[in-house]
Amino acid sequence: MIELGLAPMLCPEGSQVSEAVMETIKEILEDVFPVRVQALPAINSPPEAYDSVRRQHSAPVILKSLLAAHPANPAKLLAVTGGDLFIPMLSFVFGQAQLGGRAAVISMARLTPEFHGFDPDLQLLLRRARTVALHETGHLFGLTHCQTQECAMRLATNIHQFDLKRAVLCPGCAAILLENLR
Ligand SMILES: [Zn+2]
Ligand SMILES: [Zn+2]
Repeated sequence: MIELGLAPMLCPEGSQVSEAVMETIKEILEDVFPVRVQALPAINSPPEAYDSVRRQHSAPVILKSLLAAHPANPAKLLAVTGGDLFIPMLSFVFGQAQLGGRAAVISMARLTPEFHGFDPDLQLLLRRARTVALHETGHLFGLTHCQTQECAMRLATNIHQFDLKRAVLCPGCAAILLENLR
């Protein structure tokens, strides 16, 4: 079993990530990947990651600080933030991961129905949380983007595309995962 540290990330600009979200992410990751999820204590979003003009957090800066906070163990790291994330080339990202590497971060900010003007919906939120966690953790295990409509590894650049995905790996991605684990 591969140790995967799962940490809620606190940031003053985003809402806190609920226990239900952390729990459903732990369950799906242990279902799909050969990992034992270790709940890490909450960490603060690094202040240097925050861009006050964009009012977003830099995903690459967060990954760097995550790795600095946990230099050796666990083997994989996933932070979950309520803050909105960006990378310099894109207006926002749902998450970011080092391809085949150790660290990933996902944001719940744009996955809440409220962000899009809808009423809160816990089941929808949890489904989206599972899908984004699978996607970024898939990248940690070397999976790249997939063309299969329902596959969690398909690229989504808005919430409509995102909701076409399901919290599953398609057979093709599952086979590549097995290959990568050998
Ligand atoms: Zn991706
Ligand atoms: Zn796939």
